[in-house]
Amino acid sequence: MSHAGHRDDLLRVEDLTTRFYTEEGQVNAVESVSFDVRDNEILGIVGESGSGKSVTALSAIDLVDSPGKITGGEVWLRDAELAGEFRGDKPEAVDGDFVDLRQLPTGVRRALRGPKFSMIFQDPMSSFNPSLTVGEQIAEAVEVQRRASANPRSTRSRTQGYGLGKLLVDSVVPGRKYTSDESHERAIELLDQVGIPDPVERADEYPHQFSGGMLQRAMVAQALAGEPDVLFADEPTTALDVTIQAQILDLLRDIQQEQGMSVVLITHDLGVIARMCDRVGVMYAGEVVERGSLEAVFDDPTHPYTQGLLGSIPDVDDPAPRLEPIEGNVPNLLDSEMPDRCYFADRCPKAMEACLEHPEERAVEGDRRHTARCVLADDEYDPERALDESQFEGGDGE
Ligand code: SF4
Repeated sequence: MSHAGHRDDLLRVEDLTTRFYTEEGQVNAVESVSFDVRDNEILGIVGESGSGKSVTALSAIDLVDSPGKITGGEVWLRDAELAGEFRGDKPEAVDGDFVDLRQLPTGVRRALRGPKFSMIFQDPMSSFNPSLTVGEQIAEAVEVQRRASANPRSTRSRTQGYGLGKLLVDSVVPGRKYTSDESHERAIELLDQVGIPDPVERADEYPHQFSGGMLQRAMVAQALAGEPDVLFADEPTTALDVTIQAQILDLLRDIQQEQGMSVVLITHDLGVIARMCDRVGVMYAGEVVERGSLEAVFDDPTHPYTQGLLGSIPDVDDPAPRLEPIEGNVPNLLDSEMPDRCYFADRCPKAMEACLEHPEERAVEGDRRHTARCVLADDEYDPERALDESQFEGGDGE
C-alpha cells in the first residue's frame, strides 16, 4: 500500500483504473481513482452523469463486465482472517490485516460479495426476476450466504465448499429446491426490517405487485441478506418521488447505524450528500478530483469543478439541492480524445499555465485528509499566469 491510511479504514482503493474497449476505441472510464472507506461511515461519491462514479463502484467490487476491464490498481480490504489465509501463499497481497483483493483468486473475490460487499441499484425492477416472488429472491440471497458460511473456517474453503457450479446445479435440477424454510423466514424478517408492512403476505408477491418505493426497500433487504460490511448504493433514490426518496435515505441511515455497516453512496445529488455523508469524493471525467470530510469539501471547496457544483451556496447546512450546470460539456472519455492537461481546464475559470500538465492529487494546504487534483490545492490563482483561449486550440481533438 502506498499510504499509511487512517486507523479506521476498512477499504482502501488505490489507483483503480478501468477501461472499456468499444468499437469507437478505448474509453477511460475510471482513471487512477483512490478513496478510503472507514468503519461505520457513509462515504459519498458525487458527480455528473458520465463522470465514472458507477463504474468506480462496480470496479471496487469486481463487477465490471466485458467490454470493460479493470486494468490497474489495488483494493485493500481489512480482514484479519483473510490476511492470515494468504500471508503464506501470497505475501505480496497482504499488508498487516489488509488484503489486496485484486491479487486474490476470482472464486475468493466472488465469495466476498454478500458477506463483505453488497450493492443496490437505481432501478430495482431490473434487478429482480419478474417470474419469482420477492420473498423467494431474498431467500436465495440468504441461502447463498448461509451455505457460504457453512464452513466458517475460511473464505477460501467457502468457495471450495460451495462454488458457483453447485449453486447452478441446485438451481436447475428439478425437485431440488434451493431455498429452505429457514431462509424464507429470514427473508420475511428482512422485509420487516426494511419497513415493508405485512411482510409474510408481501413475501409471496411478485415484483410487479410492489410500488417503486417498496421494491427499493426489498432490494435493500436483499442486499442485507449477507450482512455485508460495505454496502454500495448506486443512485438508490433517483427513480423515486421526493417523499419516498427521503424514506429510503432514512432507512439506509438507520440500518447503517444499527448494523455498524459502512455505506458508499453514489449520487449526482448534493442535497443527498449533505444530508447523509461523513466524507465525500467528487468525480469528474473518470477521476476523483477532490475528496475530504463533508465540511472540508462543502465549506472550503478547492477544485473549481467542486466550487462550480456547489454554486453560490457552498454550505453544509444549506446546500444547493442539485448540481448546478457548469458551462461546457463533460469531456468525451475516449482515450484518443483525452487531453494531456487537466481534464477540466477548458471549462475552468482559473486555468493557468501550470494546468497544461495533468495535475496529481495533492493535499489541500493545512489538511492532509482533504485532497484535490488541482494546482490550486497548494498554489494561488494568478491572473498573470492565466491561460487564454488560444492555448486550447488544436492538438487534443477538440
Ligand atoms: S488544475 Fe487548473 S485547470 Fe484544472 S481545475 Fe485546477 S485550476 Fe482549473
